[in-house]
Amino acid sequence: MSFRATVLTLYPEMFPGALDVSLAGRARAAGIWSLETVQIRDFAQDKHRSVDDTPAGGGAGMVMRADVLARAIGHALPEGDPRPRLLMSPRGVPLTQALVRQLAAGPGAVILCGRFEGVDQRVIETRALQEVSIGDYVLSGGEPAAIVLLDAVVRLLPGVMGNEFSGAEESFESGLLEHPQYTRPQDFEGHAIPEVLTSGNHRRIAEWRHEQAERLTRERRPDLWLAYEKARGGR
Ligand code: SAH
Repeated sequence: MSFRATVLTLYPEMFPGALDVSLAGRARAAGIWSLETVQIRDFAQDKHRSVDDTPAGGGAGMVMRADVLARAIGHALPEGDPRPRLLMSPRGVPLTQALVRQLAAGPGAVILCGRFEGVDQRVIETRALQEVSIGDYVLSGGEPAAIVLLDAVVRLLPGVMGNEFSGAEESFESGLLEHPQYTRPQDFEGHAIPEVLTSGNHRRIAEWRHEQAERLTRERRPDLWLAYEKARGGR
């Protein structure tokens, strides 16, 4: 069973976009995952085919209508479809590697992309949408966020990365950022590759990488460092 993604959007022309090249593109061509888009506007019923309206209580911008979205979701997600229903939203739970792994282990995802000021709260609640954020900044729409999420998920699907990949040492997998990487040439503008990496001593290399990962995490991500130390039973 391959991973099935359905994206509900006002801009289906943004897909597959970046997801059609490289790893994700090849994996889709190979049938490891599939992507379907649903044009939300097809579920508008008035003569102007409107999908949004002014916010209740006043204020700037427009809000996506609950009735139109509910019809689109009902179409994309028939009764009994086990896939999680996600709403890309700056108010959501942060997208983490742990959540990416969880999604990659499942049957797929139905992803609703917001536009304007966002979507009517009632559709979030009645359709049990799980709000997911890709970071603490505001995009003009959920589409780039959906592409980010799917890119992260697809690379973990079996058969996408090839056999040499374990992922165990990657950033976030161990709660740490990844160690620095080097490759040829041995001398780059007078800068050599750290001696330990060319020593052939695998134990020392592993130790060096681990120290570097700890140092980088401590310096750059105090939040991750704190969680890492806690998990180790540290201070
Ligand atoms: N008024 C809203 C922002 C709306 S931005 C607020 O202040 O919270 C329009 C749409 O872009 C959102 O509905 C959401 O689908 C998407 N979006 C914006 N920023 C995002 C983020 N950081 N992560 C995921 N989706 C985001």
